[in-house]
Amino acid sequence: MVIITLQRDKCIGCNYCAELAPEKFRMSKKDGKSVLLRSVEKKGFHTLKDPDDSVFEDVDKAAKACPVKIISVKMI
Ligand code: SF4
Repeated sequence: MVIITLQRDKCIGCNYCAELAPEKFRMSKKDGKSVLLRSVEKKGFHTLKDPDDSVFEDVDKAAKACPVKIISVKMI
């Protein structure tokens, strides 16, 4: 199980996450910020629990590339 979190309010719309992990992130046409697909929002944090561990590597790359460090990912 992989747990991914995005603190969306702080996104600066650089597009790195959508490029590195397109299966999980898309850029919103409405506000230009990243969207963590199928995530649940709570107090500004968008979280997705994904049983597919194979996404970890791409999302980890995205987390490391994010200039404002608002993506976190962990495998449990
Ligand atoms: S890498 Fe970070 S700042 Fe850039 S679009 Fe994704 S969440 Fe936003």
